Amino acid sequence: MRNEQAYYDEIKKKFAEEREIRVNFRPEGTAQFTSEFTGELEKYAVDPYAEERVEREPITDTVECLFIGGGFSALLTSARLRERGVESIRIVERGADVGGTWYWNRYPGVACDVVSYDYLPLLDEMNYVPKNHYSRGDEILEHCQAIANKYDLYDLAVFQTTVTSTTWLASEQMWELKTDRGDVMKARFVICANGTLSKPKLAKIEGINDFQGDSFHTSRWDYDFTGQDLSNLKDKVVGIIGTGATAVQAVPGLGESAKELYVFQRTPSSIDIRNDWPTDPDWAAKLKPGWQQKRRERNLQGPQLTEEQKKKQASRTKEEKLRHQENNNIDYMMRIHDRIEKTVDDPQTAEALKPWYMFMCKRPCFHNDYLPTFNRPNVHLIDTHGEGITKITEKGPEFKGKEYELDLLIFATGFEVQKTGIYNQIIGKNNLDLEDKYSDGIRTLLGIHTEGFPNLFIMGGYQASFQFNLTDMLQTQGDHIADCIAYAREHDHNTIEPTAASEEWWVQEVISHRGKTKRNEECTPGYYNFEGESNRRQDGNYNGGFLQYFNHMAEVRSKMQNSFIFD
Ligand code: NDP
Repeated sequence: MRNEQAYYDEIKKKFAEEREIRVNFRPEGTAQFTSEFTGELEKYAVDPYAEERVEREPITDTVECLFIGGGFSALLTSARLRERGVESIRIVERGADVGGTWYWNRYPGVACDVVSYDYLPLLDEMNYVPKNHYSRGDEILEHCQAIANKYDLYDLAVFQTTVTSTTWLASEQMWELKTDRGDVMKARFVICANGTLSKPKLAKIEGINDFQGDSFHTSRWDYDFTGQDLSNLKDKVVGIIGTGATAVQAVPGLGESAKELYVFQRTPSSIDIRNDWPTDPDWAAKLKPGWQQKRRERNLQGPQLTEEQKKKQASRTKEEKLRHQENNNIDYMMRIHDRIEKTVDDPQTAEALKPWYMFMCKRPCFHNDYLPTFNRPNVHLIDTHGEGITKITEKGPEFKGKEYELDLLIFATGFEVQKTGIYNQIIGKNNLDLEDKYSDGIRTLLGIHTEGFPNLFIMGGYQASFQFNLTDMLQTQGDHIADCIAYAREHDHNTIEPTAASEEWWVQEVISHRGKTKRNEECTPGYYNFEGESNRRQDGNYNGGFLQYFNHMAEVRSKMQNSFIFD
């Protein structure tokens, strides 16, 4: 039986109040964070996984395709380029290996929340079936390495190297890339594959550098300090700031291993059940070649409505549809609350762990051990109710005048979002800096191409579709990019660049799908809505849906000569 509308309205009111509390505590929006780890913050950027820095001579050669970044974007697009006969492919990567997110994020408990048979790309090509319904981080990293091996991507790859500038040489119709290793490389095609959440960020907290204990960001886990199995923590007092998807996976292990664990929470995550299981070998044995591609095609279509459901939908007004959706969403969130009450023994802790916002306002989490961890006597939730930690002393974080003395402080404060394409300075035709071009708002075709920057492709950036399974999105973009490059090669074109008209069409498409709902303005702040900043007209994702995005890509490719200028 459904609740009365007044019940839902009351909860929505509480959602709005909780949002207001948070917006008021952080009017500076995204400026509350920093990703510039210089000076004393430099230690938070150091790669703890690389054995040593490999010294080498600067590189000055020319390749056909160059990827900035060596994560899934580069790997799966390279696979498609190889299939189309491209031989000269270079990955330039800051880490000491391929893997991207899965190279950096090795915190205890790291796993993927998307079903492995969908998340791990190229399973058909790699003839691989993941070990579990949800893959652990190490398996995913190994899969990345296996892809790089199979497609010979290590041959020209350059690791421990950061691209500092990418400049179009008009006379040569080539890109010139400079790096922090003194390289001056050239490439005909450049693909910005530097990830959607690749730069760790820290909250700008007063006194952050005063802390005298050990501290690191979750994407730079110091296993020398904690021990590989966290056993060094048995006599240590540990604190973790942040309760997003990363903390949710790391906290259970920390709670089990640390002498004491303090979890500093600003906004709780929604935590649902995680239905995990080892892959059934009989099921795996029966999979026919091309099985993953079939799954992808099915997923792309989304859930299919029955005739009855379609009729019901059609009979509702726009207003009713919205209310119906919101009420369903609230029902889901109240089920999440219910689960907390049933799992967490202490009523005050349970209350503090309840998320008061619509489902998907923040990244939903799935874990079976996170909530029960708060029943352990050594685990303490320090709920700051939207305020967050604003001061750290030499001993540890301080909140409401109480100092929490720690041996280890872990920052689970997330990553800078979707700046792929503009990390390093990119100078296109007529000396135009991409940052300057974007200063009045991002302008792209499909989030991938941008006028004035021939032979440049951007993956996982703004104005592309949002997809919970990111690799679906990346695969779609990778297929598209490989087709564009193959088209240019087959037609003996040196360059491919979107027309002004096709770019304008896409910007308008993005804008027309903004504001379909008021979710961004109504959601509690977080990285999904630029921490509550609502003045971003065209700088977010394309909200027309993934299927439509996919179809638009096909449409663009079906009229290459109209969409692009070739030279
Ligand atoms: P998030 O940005 O999601 O979380 C950062 C956390 O830090 C939030 O809880 C935030 O609180 C908190 N925070 C920030 N500043 C302060 C402060 N001053 N005091 C206290 N708390 C503070 O980062 P994550 O690393 O957790 O996750 C990033 C993304 O990475 C995920 O959303 C997901 O997309 C991806 N990921 C994916 C996984 C997977 O399974 N595939 C696993 C892990 C991560 P508030 O909410 O109030 O802003």
